[in-house]
Amino acid sequence: MIVIDEKTIFDEIQKRRPVSVALNGPDGILPKIQDTASRIMEAFGIPAYVLADSCFGTCDMNTNGAKVLGAEILFHIGHTVNSTSFGNNVILVDAFDNIPFDDIAKKCAGEFGGKTISLVTDSQHLHEVDKVRAILEQGGVRVMIGKGKGQLNDGQVFGCEFYPVMDTRDSVDANIFLGQSNFHAAGIALSTNRPTYVLDPYFNEIREVTEFAQTLQKKAVLSVYKAAEAESFGIIVGLKEGQFSKVTALKFKKELESLGKKVQLFALTDITDDKLQNLKGIDAFIQVACPRISTDNHFHKPVLSTPQANALVKILKKENVDSFLQVPHWL
Ligand code: SF4
Repeated sequence: MIVIDEKTIFDEIQKRRPVSVALNGPDGILPKIQDTASRIMEAFGIPAYVLADSCFGTCDMNTNGAKVLGAEILFHIGHTVNSTSFGNNVILVDAFDNIPFDDIAKKCAGEFGGKTISLVTDSQHLHEVDKVRAILEQGGVRVMIGKGKGQLNDGQVFGCEFYPVMDTRDSVDANIFLGQSNFHAAGIALSTNRPTYVLDPYFNEIREVTEFAQTLQKKAVLSVYKAAEAESFGIIVGLKEGQFSKVTALKFKKELESLGKKVQLFALTDITDDKLQNLKGIDAFIQVACPRISTDNHFHKPVLSTPQANALVKILKKENVDSFLQVPHWL
């Protein structure tokens, strides 16, 4: 069950007495956020708006939505990073999943005894890392926890940022991800090129995602080679605040034009196949927003992320293409 750190929220409202507040977080915890918003309205008699657009990370906090609503504080819930606020008006609030990992960790110790693993997780299960580490070590597993960087804590990954597992990848037999997210685990497998397993406490199962990750990789590589045949490109700047990379978009524009390609520039908040199908005269797209939009979704035309576009430019320049997803940050 997800538990939101409401104390932080209530203390902040008590201290600052805002006229109204807004709250948001990942889709999966919206019902919990609704409950918190109701409790705020009841306790303080102020409007508490739930920003219910999809929100995938601290890259996607919709501060503009809070501003338009006139909300003095935005409580962004459930994407724990190594800071507690952004500026004065955005407060980051933890939301932990309180499901215990004890049983699945013991099962894992039985399977991985004698091996060295990198233990890693997402925001919701960070508080379980030390306990799981102790159980695994008791079972004879050598456990490494890679160093965090930027917004990442030690042993934490985002869907596009993998510093802790890149830190350990040359010393481990496998990565072990705590949680249920095949999405995060597949990213870990792709960036490290190491066998990767999900330790799922809900189903009490150890799930290997290496094959799933390889499918994503093949699709990503195929898109790059299809895009290499394109003559006209659409380069898309994402309008979500933490995914805004105009400089990268203009860099790709310059490079592709110097290679004789035609380029149009677009800007979108949500990059979907439906939206791209409205655009005419484009053979392939490059989007410099969230890289997982390209690797995890289906599009009728090639839609490359930043690391894929870097590989494309190398192919067009007839340079060697290395393992372009095996980097710690896909932006
Ligand atoms: S994977 Fe996408 S949504 Fe997640 S942190 Fe990276 S850019 Fe944001």
